[in-house]
Amino acid sequence: MIDNNEDTIAAIATPAGNSGIGIIRISGKDAIKIADKMIRSRSNKSLDLFSSPSHKVHYGYAYDGNRVLDEVLCTVFLKPRSYTAEDTVEISCHGGMLILKEVLSAVTANGARLAEPGEFTKRAYLNGRIDLSQAESVMDIINSENEFSRKNSISQLRGSLKEKIEGYREILIHECAFIESALDDPEHYQIEEEDKKRISSKIDSLVNEITEMLQDTRQAVFLKDGINTVIAGKPNVGKSSFLNLMSGYDKAIVTSVPGTTRDVIEERINIDGVILNMTDTAGIHDSLDPVESIGINKTLEMIEKADLVVFMIDASEDLNEEDEQIADMIKEKSTVILMNKTDLASRADISNISEKLKCPIIWTSIKESKGIDEFKRTIVSMFDMDRIKDTNKTYVTNLRQIDELKKAKESLELARASIMGGMSEDTYTVDIMDAYEYLGSIIGEDTDDDLTDRIFSEFCMGK
Ligand code: GDP
Repeated sequence: MIDNNEDTIAAIATPAGNSGIGIIRISGKDAIKIADKMIRSRSNKSLDLFSSPSHKVHYGYAYDGNRVLDEVLCTVFLKPRSYTAEDTVEISCHGGMLILKEVLSAVTANGARLAEPGEFTKRAYLNGRIDLSQAESVMDIINSENEFSRKNSISQLRGSLKEKIEGYREILIHECAFIESALDDPEHYQIEEEDKKRISSKIDSLVNEITEMLQDTRQAVFLKDGINTVIAGKPNVGKSSFLNLMSGYDKAIVTSVPGTTRDVIEERINIDGVILNMTDTAGIHDSLDPVESIGINKTLEMIEKADLVVFMIDASEDLNEEDEQIADMIKEKSTVILMNKTDLASRADISNISEKLKCPIIWTSIKESKGIDEFKRTIVSMFDMDRIKDTNKTYVTNLRQIDELKKAKESLELARASIMGGMSEDTYTVDIMDAYEYLGSIIGEDTDDDLTDRIFSEFCMGK
């Protein structure tokens, strides 16, 4: 399937900005021709890259015509032993943006076109070197922010999910082929009770395996993407101070004038490998100030979407109407109450609110950094994170793949119900084939171009 693509693509594969080294990647049928033309020796002689073995590094200079652009190293990867499975050249330049742009424009002037985001990985997929679940895991590896994510995505890249899904599909297609043969040729094949039992038990064990895969996805997605957390509470209870303490620097403005957190402030906080996407908000209270009311609306929106609400209350004051209103707004959400300012004399009576929310209550003094460890322990146990954090299983954390798995499971359950209900073979083969296709789209079998384009467009440049 190699060389699906006629054109040769190129991009800067390292981040924008100055660094020691910057890499330009070229992939496609003219990659070596282009590199051979523009990477030459110090005395402007050919390096004869056409006869280079694969995975060999060459030392030379990048030229634009006769103008020397940079001193470079150039690595040749011959098809199919490259990332894209096409001829690929990587030019390692000095890592200045100007240099990289100039070298890239010499590459395009010599016949390559600029790559779209993710296009190198898309080619690896289109050329059959990796499947869609592996392509998606490449992005996850790049974005991983903790050990769990890295380990899980590497395992998927190495094909753990692909193998599982292919195994399931194999079982389904085998049984469908058997049923179809019996329907086509009833004189020679008959579907006996025993066959139905076998098919039904195979479907049963597939449903069980998929159910088990889906069981841990909530935790796995939290570990990979973080728990969306909103800090709610009336003004001046210590929300910004809490966020600052957790993130280790002063991002939110902390003042003693109520209502100074005017905008929504977001921070990713790593608690022993568990990420909280924490949002500090303007206090939820009626306000005539237009800037503040925008903040309040945003707060309500954020609460709606949050996986966790951290509800802060000032323990040194009597509770008021505002605290009660907030409690009403969040009563359907997973909540932790932080009773803050315990370094001052305690006055708040929270029996009402604690009755309403039935959630963990932690006594804190942000000023004295007290209660933080208990907060961390509470989150890890509330979301049952320890259960999956250090296991060696591979988890499905991609929402698209989770969705397809759910649909496959539903189809298999329908098939099972039809078999049990004594329905005709035609009825349940349709459901079995649906499950086969849903599973197929996890690994990119019969995936339509729009979806493929959408998936790869989320990649970064040069990958
Ligand atoms: P926000 O409006 O809820 O974001 O509250 P801030 O974080 O701006 O805090 C309001 C005031 O309370 C500031 O003067 C903080 O220094 C103070 N504060 C925050 N936490 C504590 C605490 O635990 N104890 C005491 N005594 N003061 C605190």
